[in-house]
Amino acid sequence: MSDIRVRFAPSPTGQIHIGNIRTALFNWLYARKNNGTFILRIEDTDQTRSTAEFEDVIHREMEWLGLDWDEGVKAGGDYGPYRQSERLEIYEEYVEKLIEEDKAYYCYCTTEELDAMREEAKTKGEAPKYNGKCRGLCEEKRERLEDEGREPVVRFKLPEEEEQIVVDDVIYGDVEFSSTVLDDFVIVKSDGIPTYNFAVVIDDHLMDISHVIRGEDHLSNTPKQILIYKALGLKSPKFAHLSMILGEDKSKLSKRSGEAYVYVSQYRKQGYLPDALINFLSLLGWSPKNDEEIFTVDEIINKFSMDRVTKSSAVFDVEKLNWMNGHY
Ligand code: GLU
Repeated sequence: MSDIRVRFAPSPTGQIHIGNIRTALFNWLYARKNNGTFILRIEDTDQTRSTAEFEDVIHREMEWLGLDWDEGVKAGGDYGPYRQSERLEIYEEYVEKLIEEDKAYYCYCTTEELDAMREEAKTKGEAPKYNGKCRGLCEEKRERLEDEGREPVVRFKLPEEEEQIVVDDVIYGDVEFSSTVLDDFVIVKSDGIPTYNFAVVIDDHLMDISHVIRGEDHLSNTPKQILIYKALGLKSPKFAHLSMILGEDKSKLSKRSGEAYVYVSQYRKQGYLPDALINFLSLLGWSPKNDEEIFTVDEIINKFSMDRVTKSSAVFDVEKLNWMNGHY
């Protein structure tokens, strides 16, 4: 095994769609090409929307396409995926460390108080942001608020001085964000469950992920994650954000929920050949050196490289998929 370690980290909150599975595929191809490790991690911290049924769907579609993973939680003789809901104690340790070092704090603001902050920002023509009201609350005040029955969230403390955060992206190059576009964001919700941005950092660190390959819709989350890595004194992985897939009318495929053709299950049920779908998906944002288009899965693995993944959005063309399916 090489040092390349990648992961597919879906949230089991809905049917798995073409965009999700393309992300899974590119991670899997990168691992297989480089003799690396491919991890499946179920990000089920949103306990109201995550279901076992949607997790089953993820397994079923991955199995159908042959996207096997290499490690996880030992379940009998097999490896089950990692599940964030089973790792809550691990995240807690890191949250405590940040609080102890005054890099995160408890916030007791009520919805009404937060709404008022938002309104105030609006009247000033500013972007709605948390104003840091609970930064530096003394122990006594905290106790009083807890006695009132308020359940706090934990917020990450942004650096006092403006900082330029550079996402060094394998596909997009350097993308800069100013810390002033952010506010003290929530890392633990009032039910004690960490938010996506926090859990993802801890897991990518502990799972020794070398490359985070995911959809471009997460690029704006990456500066928050980089700040968490820094605050914990951890090294960030490399990031590679994949451009969005567009429908033929150029609208984002990810937004077209409810339309059957965006779901992987549709193609399985209609008897499409899994290798044809893999072939088709691999060309959504990646291209080999020549113009050939029909490949076996092994050929795709052999040819796959991140430097031929494009920044421009790929267009999902069902007719092309049908044509490929006919050529297998
Ligand atoms: N759970 C996130 C999602 O499904 C994963 C994003 C990531 O890969 O970091 O969008």
